[in-house]
Amino acid sequence: MPFKITKFISFIFISTLLLSIQAQAPTKFTATQLETAARIRDAALEQNKGYAIVESLTTEVGPRMAGAEGDALGVKWAIAKFNELGFDKVWTEPVTFPTWTRGVEEASITSPFKQKLFITALGNSIGTSDQGMVGEIIQFDTLDDLKAAEAGQVEGKIVFISKKMERFKDGHGYGQTVGARSSGSVVAAEKGAKAIVIRSVGTDSDRMPHTGNMRYKEGVRKIPAAAMSNPDADLVMNMLKRGKPVTLQMTITSESGEDYTSHNVIGEITGSTYPDEVVALGAHLDSWDLGTGAIDDGAGVGIVMAAADLIQEKAERPKRTIRVILFANEEQGLWGGKAYAEAHKNEFKQHIVAAESDFGAGKIYKFSTKFKPEALAVADQIHSVLEPLGIERGTNKAGPGPDFIHSAKYGMAVVALSQDGTDYFDYHHTPNDTLDKINPESLTQNVATYSAFAYLMANLEGDVGFFPAQ
Ligand code: ZN
Ligand code: ZN
Repeated sequence: MPFKITKFISFIFISTLLLSIQAQAPTKFTATQLETAARIRDAALEQNKGYAIVESLTTEVGPRMAGAEGDALGVKWAIAKFNELGFDKVWTEPVTFPTWTRGVEEASITSPFKQKLFITALGNSIGTSDQGMVGEIIQFDTLDDLKAAEAGQVEGKIVFISKKMERFKDGHGYGQTVGARSSGSVVAAEKGAKAIVIRSVGTDSDRMPHTGNMRYKEGVRKIPAAAMSNPDADLVMNMLKRGKPVTLQMTITSESGEDYTSHNVIGEITGSTYPDEVVALGAHLDSWDLGTGAIDDGAGVGIVMAAADLIQEKAERPKRTIRVILFANEEQGLWGGKAYAEAHKNEFKQHIVAAESDFGAGKIYKFSTKFKPEALAVADQIHSVLEPLGIERGTNKAGPGPDFIHSAKYGMAVVALSQDGTDYFDYHHTPNDTLDKINPESLTQNVATYSAFAYLMANLEGDVGFFPAQ
């Protein structure tokens, strides 16, 4: 290659490199922008808009199990609420999934001591026969213990996994126990069990078992799966201690049904300068059927709707669009999140950042990011506005909320606003998930956080990174 051309090419190369490095660092926020964000934050603390939204949802709709009557009611409610709040654009996107109904759920120990147990079917479980089933219990401390067991020990029995969930502020005890719920039935069935009943995944001592989704595996026999409340699990443990076989009688009439099409419901405050660039705030609209879906995830719905609404009420129209996505059917397998990712897969370069609220209404205590290194200075600026709310700066290793998992695979930057979940697992997925469990003051702190954060991100010049291999 002639020298001149080589030189020219390297000139182009170096200039492009320099330009892209320049383009990589977003412009720092101005003092005025930070002041406005602080003003929105403080205005949020003077209101109870988020709480009013959850109150409306839990009162006027109640439980919103995917595919059940409350699902359609919830979608209608969300469209009406976005319109009532004056969002610029409101629309729905279809989400199709198989349905499941709960039916009867009864259990008792028939021997050596007759006692009723409080159980609930796990979401997606098949039923027993209408007459129920009877079997001897075989107990394992953990799912790993069940995995290690000889099939001969388990054959023809009802597996009981007794591991108790531990209580932590960040809820990590859930990850240590939820495997028994989601995949215990497959492991048990592979070893010939006729059913599985786990100690429910929750930190309470109420006689209210926690439901939650479970999965079957193709090619493995489907067996009924249920959870018993913590006190009932203790009772069974005490019976087992006495060394005699413990026999369980159980009737579950849950079953799968036809496919159903629900909707993600989306509302936008349209950006003034970059309307196609999106700050995405998410929560899920569906809930389980047992409670009224207040903390899971009515709280999230109230937080993100109110946060976006505050921005349109208290500030100049932001440069970018703030999009609030209320996802359909998170609980039974992230169906709404998958549908959103598929529908928008060519637009994620313009989704500048995403944050989801799906951990109840406890106060936010930590702000973590997944930003490119050049954007960490603006992350620190955002944090400076959140700090007065009692929020510490987390790492730069944030992961997406459940409904953004599939979208984030396409490369969006994400933020995690970690909530205090100390008591979240006392209530979630039980009849006890009701409005009274929400502390209005804590919910308001969440709204203040999301509104200040979203306002700043929507006005940022430049981007915070794109991670296509995420
Ligand atoms: Zn949830
Ligand atoms: Zn849930």
